[in-house]
Amino acid sequence: MRRRSIALVILLVTAGLFAQGPRPLRPGFNLFSREQDIQLGREAAAEIEKQVTVVNDPELESYVRRIGKKLASTPEAAGFPYSFKIVHDKTINAFALPGGPTYLHTGLLEAADNEAQVAGVMAHEIAHVALRHGTNQLSKANLIQLPALLAVWAAERKGSLWGQVAQLGVGLGANSVLLKYSRDAERDADLLGTRIMARAGYDPVEMARFFEKLEASGGPRALQFFSSHPNPGNRVKAVQAELQYLPAGPYTKGDPQEFQSIKRRVAALPEPPKRKKAPPSQP
Ligand SMILES: [Zn+2]
Repeated sequence: MRRRSIALVILLVTAGLFAQGPRPLRPGFNLFSREQDIQLGREAAAEIEKQVTVVNDPELESYVRRIGKKLASTPEAAGFPYSFKIVHDKTINAFALPGGPTYLHTGLLEAADNEAQVAGVMAHEIAHVALRHGTNQLSKANLIQLPALLAVWAAERKGSLWGQVAQLGVGLGANSVLLKYSRDAERDADLLGTRIMARAGYDPVEMARFFEKLEASGGPRALQFFSSHPNPGNRVKAVQAELQYLPAGPYTKGDPQEFQSIKRRVAALPEPPKRKKAPPSQP
């Protein structure tokens, strides 16, 4: 009898879970306005572009822009002014700044098996922007001067917002509070990214498949990605559970021939100029 009632409870709970439908995803606590996200990201992007080599190849640029445009125009992308650039770097990584500037490493294009996997990483990054994870984390970082700084900037709109935030000790390195996400943020970016991909017509399982492939490879080139995007676990399973709420398709993995030609083009890029060394310190 007892066992039967337990079974009944499990049945009801399960039915309740299914009745809930897709999990709503919204940005969390944030001291920044949307406008401040955009301003901060634009200025931080200019800073980052002084440190990395942005690929200047019209065909590659228009390729990622075309994918990005499809993804960014979905309602889930929340209307931020996205931009998409390629960074000449053999490590497998991608990152996005608040308000939309998004960067893909050449190593990521080389590691992907198809266009849907590239789109998957881009959709995941777009999800971080749409859910405002960077400024959410910054808002929660107990920076005592931050609320006043944002209020003054909102009133006066003077000077560099990024410059002022950086003065509070926020950097743009691998451990930046803006770019290194929690596992919860990763789970939500996977979920929203999946919805964005599906809406844009890409096979939504390919994002999780790519992440799991990278994880399984365990190679040093993939480490950078997982240090800023920690694996929330069971990625493919989580996407498969979401499929019931997604449009039925048909989905595409992209044109395989075009993708191979893009990969060849990436492989043939000339080596980027060596980065300028920091000026030698005074003897
Ligand atoms: Zn992530």
